Amino acid sequence: MIEFDILKPFSGELDYGVVLDSSEISDAVMADQVHGDVILEVTEQHETLPQADAFMTQQKDLTLMVEVADCQGILIYDPVTRSVGAVHSGWRGSTLNIIGKTIKKMTETYGASPSDMRVAISPSLGPCCAEFSDPKNELPEFCHPFIGEDNHVDFWALSTKQCLDAGVPEDQIELAGECSKCQPGYLSYRNGDSGRMGVFVTLL
Ligand SMILES: [Zn+2]
Repeated sequence: MIEFDILKPFSGELDYGVVLDSSEISDAVMADQVHGDVILEVTEQHETLPQADAFMTQQKDLTLMVEVADCQGILIYDPVTRSVGAVHSGWRGSTLNIIGKTIKKMTETYGASPSDMRVAISPSLGPCCAEFSDPKNELPEFCHPFIGEDNHVDFWALSTKQCLDAGVPEDQIELAGECSKCQPGYLSYRNGDSGRMGVFVTLL
């Protein structure tokens, strides 16, 4: 299991991490992820999978989990209001700024301040491997500064920028910086892996 340094100081308050097989985590609140920008506030387990790509809660002992294989799983923790979020953001999520919207919704719903939040971004498709055929036409204009050589896109930098723009201080953002496709030990949709990694967080 992969832990994030940025969340380790809160390990008595949180259980969190990335597991390489999402089925290792049972009883988590999960979604039918649709690459949209629906963010659900949850207080209990639901019976059917809602169509959503982010969750947030202040409920203790309720595990939130998103499944990824190249997409980013993002965990957000505000230690002041004791609220957490879990976000699934692939390239379409990036174009919708679901990270920024989740931070905003936690601010509005819980009175959290982005300046207190810690954000962790999972291993995911890196700029080395996020190749598009025609990114200038496939991605909206605000993504264009993140298009590098040979039509590769740096979604790690874009997500970091979305956190900064939402008000999270740079030293409170941890990017795993590991590419799910070309670095060993991860699951990659682009490599044809059918399994999914789980990115989860539980308030203790
Ligand atoms: Zn790579």
